Amino acid sequence: MPVTSDAPDREADATGSETEGEPTLPVNELFYSLQGEGKLAGTPSVFVRTSGCNLRCWFCDSYHTSWEPTHATMTVDEILAKVDDHDANHVVVTGGEPLVHDAVAVLLDRLAEAGHHVTVETNGTIHRDVPIDLASVSPKLASSTPTAERDPKGNGEWADRHEARRLDVDTLARFVEDYETQLKFVVSDESDVRELDDLVSRVRDAADVPVPDEDVLLMPEGATRERLAETRERVADLAMEYGYRFTPRLHVTLWNDAPET
Ligand code: SF4
Repeated sequence: MPVTSDAPDREADATGSETEGEPTLPVNELFYSLQGEGKLAGTPSVFVRTSGCNLRCWFCDSYHTSWEPTHATMTVDEILAKVDDHDANHVVVTGGEPLVHDAVAVLLDRLAEAGHHVTVETNGTIHRDVPIDLASVSPKLASSTPTAERDPKGNGEWADRHEARRLDVDTLARFVEDYETQLKFVVSDESDVRELDDLVSRVRDAADVPVPDEDVLLMPEGATRERLAETRERVADLAMEYGYRFTPRLHVTLWNDAPET
């Protein structure tokens, strides 16, 4: 479905709502594609991209869910009907930050009841007691902060809020304890890997379960083919050096920065 730019923008911390008793979610895109990243890269999947995020990474590749959120408002029943249009077992609930919305719990319950394998892509700052088959958690490193020099709007007004919210080790530990989890980091250079190496140690200390190296994924920064070509070999080398897993960005390689991919 197309992005609707005329729908009212939702607050950054939107929680979803109800229409005449029916739970609704702000949906930016709903489409069928290949999972491009992580352990399930290459898997045909239906993507439900909610709008609204509690962070503002300067490099956000879903700009219209965070910096300038746009969406249609859909009931959970309408979302499920659109998902059923595609013969896909795998569903990816992504954003934005899907877990900011209370109504996402209803959607995840219904998808589980229908027997779908559900991946939730999250920044790992909000934990909910919901059914998730794969938590694809992407903690945000210091290099994500939209300083005045990097802020796409040029004023740095989100820098302090982003910095205060971007990491919560105890919440990350709950993800790895409660779900099959992949910790997926956007990496530009070695300073990012040193930082994530330290963070993974802190999560291991806080969690009651092991976090194997193969569940830690390094993903090259770059939302366009041109930028990805500049970063991916360096990040692949870093993955080998540190013993973590490299993840491609298949959708960027295949379709560049086209929407609904
Ligand atoms: S957490 Fe994800 S959706 Fe939110 S601003 Fe960062 S990259 Fe964009």
